[in-house]
Amino acid sequence: MTGITKPPEIMQKTIIHLEDIRKSYFIGKNALPVLKGIRIDIMLNEYVALMGPSGSGKSTLMNILGCLDSPTSGTYVLNGHDVSKMEDNDLAEVRNKEIGFVFQQFNLMPRLSALENVAVPLIYAGISKKTREERAMSMLEKVGLGDRYHHKPNELSGGQCQRVAIARALINDPALILADEPTGNLDTKTSVEIMEIFGQIHASGNTVVLVTHEEDIADHARRIVRLRDGVIESDHINEKQLVDS
Ligand code: ADP
Ligand code: MG
Repeated sequence: MTGITKPPEIMQKTIIHLEDIRKSYFIGKNALPVLKGIRIDIMLNEYVALMGPSGSGKSTLMNILGCLDSPTSGTYVLNGHDVSKMEDNDLAEVRNKEIGFVFQQFNLMPRLSALENVAVPLIYAGISKKTREERAMSMLEKVGLGDRYHHKPNELSGGQCQRVAIARALINDPALILADEPTGNLDTKTSVEIMEIFGQIHASGNTVVLVTHEEDIADHARRIVRLRDGVIESDHINEKQLVDS
C-alpha cells in the first residue's frame, strides 16, 4: 500500500539516534577499539534491555548514551540535540536535563543523607534549598523510602541505596533513564523489587535503557539488543512481553 502516512502527532518520536558510533580507548599510543560501528534508533517510551558478554562494550555504550563519555567518531542525537558535536558545558546541561543514570555500584555520596543525595542534581539546576528538599522528599516517598530520608548510604541496605540512586536519577524528570546493571549487586528478591520500580518508571512515560546479563531481568523489557565484540549482534522485540501485555 502506498501513500499512507501517520499524522505527526502519532508518529513515534526518536529519543536516541546513533549512527556509526565508534569508540577506542587509548593506552599510551595503542588504540583499543571497543565500539565498532553502532547504529540504532530508540523511540520515546521504549523499554530496552542491552545484553552481551562481559567486555562486549555495554558500559562503554551506556556512558556515551549518558553523555558521560564521547565517542571517538559517529553521530549521537539525543532528543533532538546533536550531542556528538557539543562542548563539555553544553553536554553537562543536556545530561542534567534529559538523562537520569543509575549505576551498579549506586555511586551515592557517602557523607550525604538519602535526602541530600537525591537533591544533588537540583543544586546544578539552581533550585532553592527548601524546594530541593521538598522535591527530594516526595521522590524518596515514591520509591518507598520516605522513612529513611536522614540515613547515610552506609546506614542503608543495597536495595535501599539503589532506590535512593533511582530517586536521584528521576529528580529532574528526565525523559531518558539509563541503568547499567542496576541489580548486579542485589539479591534476587531485591532485584525483583527494583525491577518493579523500573516498570513503573516506564509505565509513567519514561524511556528506559537497562544493561543486564540476566535473562530474567531482560525479560522486563520490550526490546532486547545484544552486543558482541563492539557491534550489535541482534535487536528484537521481547516475545514474552508481547504475550504478557
Ligand atoms: P561491558 O560493560 O560489556 O563488560 P565495557 O564497555 O566495560 O564492557 O568494556 C569493553 C572493553 O573496553 C573491555 O575490554 C575493557 O577492558 C575496555 N575498557 C573499558 N573501559 C576502559 C577504559 N576506561 N580504558 C581502557 N579500556 C577500557
Ligand atoms: Mg559493564
